[in-house]
Amino acid sequence: MKSLITCPRCDHQGIIRAIRIKRLDRIVNVCDECDALWLVPVVENPVCGTDFVDFNSFLQELGIAVDPKEWEPVDSHEARTI
Ligand SMILES: [Zn+2]
Repeated sequence: MKSLITCPRCDHQGIIRAIRIKRLDRIVNVCDECDALWLVPVVENPVCGTDFVDFNSFLQELGIAVDPKEWEPVDSHEARTI
């Protein structure tokens, strides 16, 4: 059975999922509840900017629209590789 990784930033309301940003061909791990993009292995009491960044801000900094067409889920490794 797969064990899902939940997100400490939002008190484990969300599940962290691997998604691929198509134009970067880069896989990132994003919480499906609070949109935290995890930069490091999930830690309790995470610090914004160090442990995670806001997914929308991350996209905007790279000049990518906040549009679900820009990314796709990566089913094969659901946040197993954080
Ligand atoms: Zn979260």
